[in-house]
Amino acid sequence: MRAIAVRRGESTPRVVDVPKPTPDTGEALVRTLRVGIDGTDHEVVGGSHGGFPEGTDYQILGHEAVGVVEDPNGTRFDAGDLVVPTVRRPPGAGNEHFERGEPDMAPDGAYLERGIVGAHGYMADYFTSDERFLVGVPDDFATTGFLVEPVSNTEKALEHAYASRSAFEWEPESALVLGNGPLGLLTLAMLVERDDFERCYCLGRRDRPDPTIEIIERLGATYVDSRETPLPEVLDAHEAMDFVYEATGHAPHAFETVTALAPNGVGALLGIPSDGTVELDGGRIHREMVLQNKALLGSVNSNVEQYEAAEESLAAFPEWFTDELVTGVYGPDEVERAFETGDDVIKTVVEFDTL
Ligand code: NDP
Ligand code: ZN
Repeated sequence: MRAIAVRRGESTPRVVDVPKPTPDTGEALVRTLRVGIDGTDHEVVGGSHGGFPEGTDYQILGHEAVGVVEDPNGTRFDAGDLVVPTVRRPPGAGNEHFERGEPDMAPDGAYLERGIVGAHGYMADYFTSDERFLVGVPDDFATTGFLVEPVSNTEKALEHAYASRSAFEWEPESALVLGNGPLGLLTLAMLVERDDFERCYCLGRRDRPDPTIEIIERLGATYVDSRETPLPEVLDAHEAMDFVYEATGHAPHAFETVTALAPNGVGALLGIPSDGTVELDGGRIHREMVLQNKALLGSVNSNVEQYEAAEESLAAFPEWFTDELVTGVYGPDEVERAFETGDDVIKTVVEFDTL
């Protein structure tokens, strides 16, 4: 079968011919429909993130997938069911985080990640998965279901943010998303759809006309240009934010988030920067966190319940939003184009098959 992989020593994705997998006991065989591409995939291709599966000299890419059960193999699924796989897998037996259904809370080394760390991904005509890590989705998710994974990352961040404010009466009204990449835009659409937030903002660094600014404004949110209004000035230029969601990966934003927060507000940090020193008014940030009961939290990955919550969020998106977000659908033999980046590219997907 066809698979899209990166070979050891190379830094471009290519189509390789690999044997069709056979499901083990407890696993189903899935025919892949679509696999989304995100920044992590680019990092895996470039070799700055992740690691090859043990004993192989190639890694099959892709962690955002939707597919159809081809062979249920005794699992709870029926042939023809539409499914979305989760990303993390236990590295061996007896892993407490996986046993509790909290793989997203496992520390480094206590998990593998399909398509990222130590395990093959889903960019292939077929993949197999333990049924515990497959989430059934409705038939009308055949084209959009690959977005369940990134949306579930935000479901987790929101759950943790609300939990951090659960000791008192928290009534958020304003939210700011940092970053107009795919994760930022998906999150903005989720926040707009939620009744909690009356006013939503999204921070970027693009000139108009720009497709992401068009999406931000069509969602009814306000675009904030960080070159004109740096994060510590958002409070004066707009308003204090009850919730800030960081999705730029720009390290100063992690700390400057505190300056944009309203008293009792919470900031969720999702970006994954590389090492680097930043210059900040640490005194102001520390003082405001304490005297204004502000919270910051980091969040990565997600669990099965958060995938299920993501299904609902995704179903609530207006159709135009996913149409505008997905700027390219490519066949496996067009993989180089699928991995191209640019200001007119938001989210691309590799399509192996259709329903
Ligand atoms: P992208 O890199 O596509 O998006 C980041 C966006 O932030 C870009 O649009 C970029 O603008 C913008 N940006 C960067 N710096 C600034 C700045 N100083 N001011 C204003 N805007 C800025 O990534 P994704 O959307 O895919 O993901 C966002 C981050 O979240 C990444 O760091 C990614 O690694 C991480 N991530 C974390 C997950 C988790 O579970 N924690 C899951 C998935 C992703 P421009 O395009 O104009 O350069
Ligand atoms: Zn992803």
